[in-house]
Amino acid sequence: MKFHKTGLPSPSRDWALFLDFDGTLTELAPTPDAVSVDPALRSVLAALEEGLGGALAIVSGRPLSEIDALLGIGLPGAGVHGLELRETRGGAVQPPRDMAAIRVIERALAPMVEADPRLILERKPGAIAFHYRRAPEREDECRAAMARALDGLPGMALIDGKMVLEVKPDHISKGVAIARLLDVEPFAGRIPVFAGDDRTDEDGFEVVNAMKGITIKIGPGATRASHRISSVDALLAWLKEVSRLLSV
Ligand SMILES: [Mg+2]
Repeated sequence: MKFHKTGLPSPSRDWALFLDFDGTLTELAPTPDAVSVDPALRSVLAALEEGLGGALAIVSGRPLSEIDALLGIGLPGAGVHGLELRETRGGAVQPPRDMAAIRVIERALAPMVEADPRLILERKPGAIAFHYRRAPEREDECRAAMARALDGLPGMALIDGKMVLEVKPDHISKGVAIARLLDVEPFAGRIPVFAGDDRTDEDGFEVVNAMKGITIKIGPGATRASHRISSVDALLAWLKEVSRLLSV
């Protein structure tokens, strides 16, 4: 991939790089635990971390424990759309406060999920995700059930993802998490660069745009991002080129 094709500026050691995981660094899989990590990804991330003085973070909807298991390294970052935060490499994860509302939603949706093994209810720290990727014809029913479950639960936000309906507290977002990381070393004072593919990444794009950073949407679809890269493979090729240029 050549830079003139993406329109992206040449990489700088002053960048702080924030990367979404699913649909950005890896292709989406039918279920969250079926995702596979390209072995080359780990070496690219290690090279980027080195070239950016450690200013590399993963900003994902997954819990950070899952990201760590998939990547084999404890990068700084935000999990569960910003509900979890880890400011330093290998450091402790600041967990979300326990959310009773999540348990209410879980109980409301449980009978539907128990009756159809294609539906998956994924419990996360402080959030819950209702996957219907394997039963797309039930989308309307799933939406209706989630709407009923949310009725009377103020302060919760519904995230309409790719074949997944997710609920989290509405005052937390990927944008808030990126802003918090940009307050601490080694991210502070750097130019934020954020790449993501899905609805929740738009909050991050908004924050990074406001800070005069660089935002990259992966794949098609409307976006507030300033740049676009067509696919996961194309992003990995670009990241590899960035790491190479930062090392010379
Ligand atoms: Mg994603």
